[in-house]
Amino acid sequence: MNVFTYDQAPDAMAAVDLAKANTASKYLGGGTNLVDLMREGVERPEMLIDITRLPAEIELRPDGSLLIGAATKNTALAADPYIRLAFPFLARSILAGASAQIRNMATVGGNILQRTRCRYFYDDAARCNKRQPQAGCDAKDGFNRYHAILGASSSCVATHPSDMCVALAALDATVHLEGPVGSRSVRLLDLHRLPGDRPDIETQLQLNELITAIEIPPLPFARRSTYRKVRDRASYAFALISVAAAIDIDDAGKVRDVRLALGGVAHKPWRALKAEEALIGEPAGLESFRAAAEVELATAVGLRDNGFKIELAKRTIVAVLDELKGEGA
Ligand SMILES: Cc1cc2nc3c(=O)[nH]c(=O)nc-3n(C[C@H](O)[C@H](O)[C@H](O)COP(=O)(O)OP(=O)(O)OC[C@H]3O[C@@H](n4cnc5c(N)ncnc54)[C@H](O)[C@@H]3O)c2cc1C
Ligand code: SF4
Repeated sequence: MNVFTYDQAPDAMAAVDLAKANTASKYLGGGTNLVDLMREGVERPEMLIDITRLPAEIELRPDGSLLIGAATKNTALAADPYIRLAFPFLARSILAGASAQIRNMATVGGNILQRTRCRYFYDDAARCNKRQPQAGCDAKDGFNRYHAILGASSSCVATHPSDMCVALAALDATVHLEGPVGSRSVRLLDLHRLPGDRPDIETQLQLNELITAIEIPPLPFARRSTYRKVRDRASYAFALISVAAAIDIDDAGKVRDVRLALGGVAHKPWRALKAEEALIGEPAGLESFRAAAEVELATAVGLRDNGFKIELAKRTIVAVLDELKGEGA
């Protein structure tokens, strides 16, 4: 590990000022991803700015929306009674990730900005365009079981590893930022980029911008929601495929509204907008669920080891929607 200095920021402005003064600095949340990357020599910050003293409150507003401080621990978010009731798929997505010990350390901001788990990204001896632009990509012809089937490019086929972000994508959350030129907000759906020819640029964040909070708008029908993660081991493994879904079915048994997002499929949390559009107004049943899954996965492309994920994604979408339909009966 390289030599680095450490400072603790009392508030967001102080954190941004510290970062501005040293552009080779990194913000430190729980450190559960950053410190691993420093050990592997992938990240080499000269300074760590500890931001765990920043707001960590979960504020419920009168309209049912939530404002969640970026320093909130994953465990606290998953355990919040209102979230468990109003947004069960958010609580379940967090509990499907990592281990209890890691969730106790990990923060909401860090979870959103955690980096891909592509094994070649962590291996200094491998070719990786994300780690070193123009170096090549060893995953394309290598072990690519966990890699992308949607939105990938010839430069990078990595996936975004966060479970929580899949539920946040379905909820259409907003990310609040503080940076050297002021505050702004971006939709979570726009925060992460597809790889294109610059997989090293992963988000829309500007230099030294800090995530200060996440805002979740009200979504009353999310009470009927769930998160399913398909993985190689029952716990402590990243998603091959995951699905976050919420559904609103009218008295005639037709889909009035639906939210659907996928994990483990792309360089970013993947909101399944085409499937949502295909479902609205249709009878809530296996036939329309399958048709919507087909539409969403129509452009999916498999690699040597991960072609099975295309059918797996379709079946998981159908199974999750069918489970939710049954819950409302
Ligand atoms: C063994 C293992 C298994 C795991 N399994 C899963 C899993 O199944 N699913 C899953 O979703 N996750 C999994 N994780 C990842 C874990 O959830 C992340 O490591 C964690 O969420 C990162 O949070 P952190 O606060 O520790 O981030 P850090 O490691 O502190 O930071 C990560 C990145 O975010 C930046 N950052 C942190 N906070 C902010 C902020 N507020 N503003 C701007 N930048 C910021 C840091 O500079 C750094 O670049 C696993 C991790 C491990 C080690
Ligand atoms: S898939 Fe992306 S992260 Fe993995 S080796 Fe290729 S360029 Fe690097």
